Amino acid sequence: MIPSAVRLREEFVAGERSAVETVRETFARIRQSEPALHAFLSLDEPGALAAAAALDRRRADGESLGSLAGVPIGVKDLIGVRGSRTTCGSRMLAEYIAPYDATVVERLRQADAIIVGKTNLDEFAMGSSNEHSAFGRACNPWDLSLVSGGSSGGSAVAVAADQVPITLGTDTGGSIRQPAAFCGIVGLKPTYGLVSRYGVVAYASSLDQVGPMGRTAADCAALLQAIGGPDRRDSTSARREVGEFSPPDSLRGLRIGWVPEQFGPGLDPIVSESVESALRWFESQGAVRVPVELPYARFGIASYYVIASSEASSNLERFDGAHYGFRADGSDVTDLDRLYRATRTAGFGAEVKRRILLGTFALSAGHADAYYGRASRVRRAIRDDFDRVWQQVDLLLGPTTPTPPFPAAAKTSDPLAMYLADVYTVLANLAGLPAVSFPVEPTDTRLPIGAQLTGPPFSDQRLLGLVHRYQQEHDWHLRRPDPIGLPAGIPVSGADS
Ligand code: GLN
Repeated sequence: MIPSAVRLREEFVAGERSAVETVRETFARIRQSEPALHAFLSLDEPGALAAAAALDRRRADGESLGSLAGVPIGVKDLIGVRGSRTTCGSRMLAEYIAPYDATVVERLRQADAIIVGKTNLDEFAMGSSNEHSAFGRACNPWDLSLVSGGSSGGSAVAVAADQVPITLGTDTGGSIRQPAAFCGIVGLKPTYGLVSRYGVVAYASSLDQVGPMGRTAADCAALLQAIGGPDRRDSTSARREVGEFSPPDSLRGLRIGWVPEQFGPGLDPIVSESVESALRWFESQGAVRVPVELPYARFGIASYYVIASSEASSNLERFDGAHYGFRADGSDVTDLDRLYRATRTAGFGAEVKRRILLGTFALSAGHADAYYGRASRVRRAIRDDFDRVWQQVDLLLGPTTPTPPFPAAAKTSDPLAMYLADVYTVLANLAGLPAVSFPVEPTDTRLPIGAQLTGPPFSDQRLLGLVHRYQQEHDWHLRRPDPIGLPAGIPVSGADS
């Protein structure tokens, strides 16, 4: 079993293990499970070993060591790592080499973390199951026939299967929290602006955030601290530091908001019971449950998919065969229209095309106010709902997902059913709030179930502190999937067309 990131760093700093040893062990574990899981799109063993050897030398020389020194980490393949392939899970960027490091990657290096590879995702982060990856899905280590969740599926699988202790994901509408819930780990979507997006390929710029994924809240807090804080290269970056991780001594008097509507029809009773059990634990510690209302939350999914698709249609315009990456074979560069058409037809998968079409329509002359304008007004109303709620409670506790992890192929032919997997997660993105998913007691099945804590802006570390308290009294996050030790070579399902 792999130690936590916090522990690995302690052991490294104390001289109890070398970084090279850690990296060797890490790749041995990855080699064992990866053929069946497909959590990574690329691995860089020579690079990781070289970084580890340099770190071991620095330790021997008595130099100061960063906050993640000697900790192996996986980075979602939407985030630029200089000199490495950054495919975004798309044929369009299959051969694209990032020419510079994203700010979060630069900060990982400053913290002396060791990047082992790039994790699998739905194409351009659009999806909730990882089945829209152009390179085949990452499989859920608890049951390979189930989806990992998405879009940061590879990042969640890599942690759940003990390949690495921590990973970076991105979350536009649930892409960190939903796979975290499906794989039984912790994932935080930070407050909008707390973590730089510089060097991260944009999906929907007003919603996107990079965030930490790990087995423990303490590991996520350490990772958040390393990557967060102001960045002059991202104009949407907030002028706020991440703040200290200081879990509370007592939960007495904590006001936990609970939205009855979220526990109504549409929520699988298995999830409902599990989340209730977490609520009851907080109450047993002296927290008070306060029923609150979010009247506009029911329009969240509709508003989110109009806004996200609109922004995506604009952000993805740059992938045209002229600027970056893939260009369709034999296309005639003197006929721009044909070049664009041939490149985009062959380069993008079906879901990305659907979003571009939806978004282009929602922004088109004569429709923009009816769709994008209205969706933006709903978004405003949802934010106002939350502002009112923060007058009454300290945070909200609810389900992360409406169901436990679902079987592969169950929703690929029904986009709307897939979109509804995000019904509880999109709200935090629309309102710019921090939200964390953490594994709670699985009441009826052995599959992981996640609960979601949402808080006011910049309460990120506070939320992780509360999860930490929960994790001190429970060990759901320490359970390991059985199928690990999987026979190598179990085929991974085919790519989305
Ligand atoms: N599943 C959602 C979507 O497809 C969220 C994705 C994300 O957060 N990147 O848009």
